[in-house]
Amino acid sequence: LFSSVEMAPRDPILGLNEQFAADTNPSKVNLGVGVYFDDNGKLPLLQCVQAAEKAMMDKPTPRGYLPIDGIAAYDSAVKGLVFGAESDVVKSGRVATVQAVGGTGGLKIGADFLKKLSPNAKVLISDPSWENHRAIFTNAGFEVGSYRYYDAATRSVNFDGMLADLNAAAPGTIVVLHACCHNPTGYDITAAQWDQVIAAVKAKNLTPFLDMAYQGFGHGIKEDGAAIDKFIAAGLTIFVSTSFSKSFSLYGERVGALSVVCADKDEAARVLSQLKIVIRTNYSNPPTHGGAVVAAVLNNPELRALWEKELGEMRVRIKEMRQKLVDGLKAAGVKQDMSFITTQIGMFSYSGLSKDQMVRLRNEFGVYGTDTGRMCVAALNSKNIEYVCASVAKVMA
Ligand code: PMP
Repeated sequence: LFSSVEMAPRDPILGLNEQFAADTNPSKVNLGVGVYFDDNGKLPLLQCVQAAEKAMMDKPTPRGYLPIDGIAAYDSAVKGLVFGAESDVVKSGRVATVQAVGGTGGLKIGADFLKKLSPNAKVLISDPSWENHRAIFTNAGFEVGSYRYYDAATRSVNFDGMLADLNAAAPGTIVVLHACCHNPTGYDITAAQWDQVIAAVKAKNLTPFLDMAYQGFGHGIKEDGAAIDKFIAAGLTIFVSTSFSKSFSLYGERVGALSVVCADKDEAARVLSQLKIVIRTNYSNPPTHGGAVVAAVLNNPELRALWEKELGEMRVRIKEMRQKLVDGLKAAGVKQDMSFITTQIGMFSYSGLSKDQMVRLRNEFGVYGTDTGRMCVAALNSKNIEYVCASVAKVMA
């Protein structure tokens, strides 16, 4: 049975992690994987999470199956966070939200549902995008193409190219958009550009799928959700996947969601019933712990305030690291203007370094980023920044 099975390629990012773990260089720094580390290089366990877990431990509950669509209090908290609890779409019952196994799970449920709904639609993702976007939609059976996004020459978004590609898409094309903190480039489009994207989506009757994996890491919780508000204000039906992996530092708990904004309450009920079938036939129902923690935090005003404070601290620290990177590279002798790093947003920076330079960084200095030049600025800290700057300066010399 298995004799003809071919060896699959290693995941480009998780493969890098394995290489990093095996590296004996004592100064090694992992800027490969998209994970936030604190200034001591540690993965944070947020206070709000600890408080919620303590309360849960003090009052243990049995672990029955969850409903197929997850914890009701979790789903309503997600709706509140993404759309606003008092928003018209939520109050009118137009949003179908299901708990998902991470943001990846939200994307996958959406992809499987869309495949049933529009089997012949094509999918467009940004060029470049998070690697898994292509894989998830391809594995769901779609043909996946891309729309222009990053322009290496100008170190910015090729917005004219993006818009032209959206305008050229066939009606019904599914367009995956990064709601904020674009991964991997760190470049988001402006509010005015979102308006133009929305106009194109509307004119061409495209299906927008917004991936929200970094809400709160850009400019703030509300600010980072602004693009979603705009789609809704334009009267569009949209898909939104949510991930709490980064914003709650709950990577391994796999907490995420999928929300589908429908035309009315009746439509939302029918969509929800179909999403439940997708879930039921994939993994039956989601796990309890992560969702219970996030629901407990988001639904308790004190814990919610604590979370917002802690999330804000992560956001500010990343911004400080961007500035320190720009200053440190200059101090280390880099002549090129690197200030573009502070115009990028979120966890990543497209450094502009070539594959050869990234390989040298890894092999000679133990500084790991992806071959595309992407570095996770959220893994920089006051102890490793100088070494990273010196190493980058050497490969840029
Ligand atoms: N979308 C994007 C753009 C991401 O960067 C990530 C995580 N790297 C995800 C989705 C998936 O998040 P999760 O780990 O919660 O599945």
